[in-house]
Amino acid sequence: MTKDFDYYNTLLVQSVGAKTGPIAPTVVPSAAYGYADAQEAEGIFAGEVNKPLYARVGNPTNGKLEGIVAKMEGGFGAIATASGMGALAMVTTAMLKAGDEVLCIGGFFGGTYTLVNETLKRFGVSNSFCEVDDFAHIEAKLKAGVKMVLMESVGNPSLRLPDIKRIADLCNTYETLLVVDNTATPLLVRPLELGADIVVHSSTKNMSGHSAALGGIAVFRAVKAEGDKLHNEKYADLHKIVNKMGHKAFIPICKKRAIRDVGMTANAFGSFLTMLGLETLSLRVERVNKSVARVAQILEENLPEGIEVNHPSLAKSEDHARYLSDFPNGCGPLMTIDCGTPERAFAFLNALNMATLTANIGDNRTLALHMQSTIYSDFDAATRKFLGVTEGLIRVSIGLEDPEEIAKDFLQAAEVL
Ligand code: PLP
Repeated sequence: MTKDFDYYNTLLVQSVGAKTGPIAPTVVPSAAYGYADAQEAEGIFAGEVNKPLYARVGNPTNGKLEGIVAKMEGGFGAIATASGMGALAMVTTAMLKAGDEVLCIGGFFGGTYTLVNETLKRFGVSNSFCEVDDFAHIEAKLKAGVKMVLMESVGNPSLRLPDIKRIADLCNTYETLLVVDNTATPLLVRPLELGADIVVHSSTKNMSGHSAALGGIAVFRAVKAEGDKLHNEKYADLHKIVNKMGHKAFIPICKKRAIRDVGMTANAFGSFLTMLGLETLSLRVERVNKSVARVAQILEENLPEGIEVNHPSLAKSEDHARYLSDFPNGCGPLMTIDCGTPERAFAFLNALNMATLTANIGDNRTLALHMQSTIYSDFDAATRKFLGVTEGLIRVSIGLEDPEEIAKDFLQAAEVL
């Protein structure tokens, strides 16, 4: 069940703070941890004693963050990573091997696109990409045995909204892992409840809000004793861990097959800073999502011809109906402004007084960036088209400022064009 902002306000402040001793989360920076005796060391390495082993595979400060985010997403457990890309790299490298195929649905952040289409490909994992509503392609690929389906809850920057429930139902029918990047929509959708297996976040974004901590996190469901898709022959190379670790299996799969060997681990201070952000996440998400819709509406009504705002809250958006039905509290901080050409986009950005020009999203401040000349500068025209990156496209991430003032700033910048 979707929870309301009051539920999350209570959950998050109560879980981040302690009642006795230090109220703020404790930062444990130690890289190594002593074991009481040889037997305890053996138990820790076997996963039977729940104590820190070595900071590359876990740390108490990360552990606190992982517990809170797992609860927030309605999951069984979580693993914090060095960045959002670290979380995606962990999940994909842990679950996939040469010869497997991953199906990518909808729009993707540039780093995720290149992770799949360049890095994983170099290691023998093939891929196919399709539009959010291409259910014929999705079902054909599932039938043919793809090993993982990957999608963003809201395409960044395409703003396409997938039907997460319908895709999850298909993945469950064909016993295929579904990974949803929920970076843009924490608290707004809970993909695990809709049937996904793994949720990943770049916690650098909305969760922190302050741009002071690079981080990521993956959240997992519990593995079922009977009839779990991980028991399917397709996942035979995971069976040794699944049979030994039962309902917890996603955690040791990622720790033993990615974190241990590749080391994309979160650091304790970063996790501490992320928890400070989490305390106010619900207040911020509620405000920002109201503001995005308000700013989009003002711009839609007042921008001059030749410059176009896009957001699913607008009636003209192709995903407006899905926005109303599946994203009742909003679909995150992003909207786009298309100025038509790169030259006009540069002039518009350079005339802004309020927005910070940067590559981040989900910040407490309003941010803006021209897509083609930055994150997507390495991409060919066909890929950019698929990802919704037009020549004059500016991605905007709305912050906590007064929405009327944000809109005023965009409108005055439009006057220079
Ligand atoms: N996923 C999405 C949707 C993003 O926007 C980003 C942004 O950078 C990432 C993943 C990667 O996160 P990070 O920058 O923390 O590695």
